[in-house]
Amino acid sequence: MSSTTDLGKLCKREHDHAGTGMSMRYIHKSGKPIGNCIECGRENGNKDRDRQIKVRRMKALDQGRFDEKYRGNPCQDGHVLRYVVDGSCVSCDTERRRALAAPPEKREKRALTRTDNTARSRERAKARSKREAMRDV
Ligand SMILES: [Zn+2]
Ligand SMILES: [Zn+2]
Repeated sequence: MSSTTDLGKLCKREHDHAGTGMSMRYIHKSGKPIGNCIECGRENGNKDRDRQIKVRRMKALDQGRFDEKYRGNPCQDGHVLRYVVDGSCVSCDTERRRALAAPPEKREKRALTRTDNTARSRERAKARSKREAMRDV
């Protein structure tokens, strides 16, 4: 049996694995435990990714690339593709836009969608002008 993880001492952040009072930790290829808790690793990884997204977001806003996407946490519908500039779900956004083109009897829904989109583009413009203001200072 070859496993890359094994139960070890409870980590500093107390990631208790399934109530064993121990943490699941990475095992080196040689079989020696390297001691890193997999949950801690996951948390650190998320932090790194958050930082990367933030950097990409600023660049995208600077360069006006509003359609740049990244794979993020699933939305309430389980989609993972998101827009870099505001973190909104690409699929949900597309569906909302499709609703915009819906027949007139769905006007109420359309009105809602339009308000939503207007609010978002206003947010984007605000973020952009904030960036520009910062650059000028
Ligand atoms: Zn841990
Ligand atoms: Zn979605």
